[in-house]
Amino acid sequence: TYALDIEGLTKNYSDGFQALKGIDLHVREGDFFALLGPNGAGKSTTLGIVSSLVNKSGGKVRVFGHDIDTDLSSAKLSLGVVPQEFNFNQFEKVEDIVTTQAGYYGIPLKTARVSAEKYLKKLGLWDKRNTPARMLSGGMKRRLMIARALVHEPRLLILDEPTAGVDIELRRSMWQFLEEMNRQGTTIILTTHYLEEAEALCRNIAIIDQGEIIRHTSKRELLQQL
Ligand code: ADP
Ligand code: ADP
Repeated sequence: TYALDIEGLTKNYSDGFQALKGIDLHVREGDFFALLGPNGAGKSTTLGIVSSLVNKSGGKVRVFGHDIDTDLSSAKLSLGVVPQEFNFNQFEKVEDIVTTQAGYYGIPLKTARVSAEKYLKKLGLWDKRNTPARMLSGGMKRRLMIARALVHEPRLLILDEPTAGVDIELRRSMWQFLEEMNRQGTTIILTTHYLEEAEALCRNIAIIDQGEIIRHTSKRELLQQL
């Protein structure tokens, strides 16, 4: 089974705009996968549908075999999502943001605290655990989003443009962090409009443009043809 399996996915927004024209994506367990494409291609729409923030118009989406139409709660348990916008409560403290998220998955507070500590430490935010999120720098907020997405130890982590607006140094350390997560077995999918980022990190790449997948290939094959 695939970590993420998408077939014939379509999205027509309510203004009539067709953002996805029937895309297929297959991501194997353990993969580090990039969905690469220019602004407006349909990347965020795709991730929004996978994380059930956006309704699809047609097609199938399965997360580790769990169909999001019929088995959404199982799909959600195996999935961590890092959207582009900071959507946490800015007045809440860093540690509370992460443990509150764990509560949504029914994780007991004690376990949630252990997991929050683990990921806040890994992401260099443990010293900030009692700080309200609004006091953090942009880079720290980005890392907080990642810690929150990992608190329930998902098998698949999806990140929407994780390094957009992030300085070079933090970008490198985020890349290292994601590579480490992937080595330890987490399947990772990210969207990016930087070929360089897809090239540095990912084993397989799909290129999306104007709501269509125009290539679905390994990085090695893609680079041989450029
Ligand atoms: P859905 O079809 O998923 O219900 P809608 O078409 O109703 O989504 O739009 C959801 C929200 O996105 C609305 O508040 C809308 O104003 C906003 N929106 C509309 N056009 C765009 C756009 N081109 N890019 C981003 N957001 C948009
Ligand atoms: P990407 O993430 O690749 O930049 P998006 O998925 O955000 O692309 O957007 C794909 C297309 O859908 C864009 O043309 C965008 O303007 C449009 N779009 C996104 N959200 C909405 C919305 N809520 N209503 C109408 N059009 C939208």
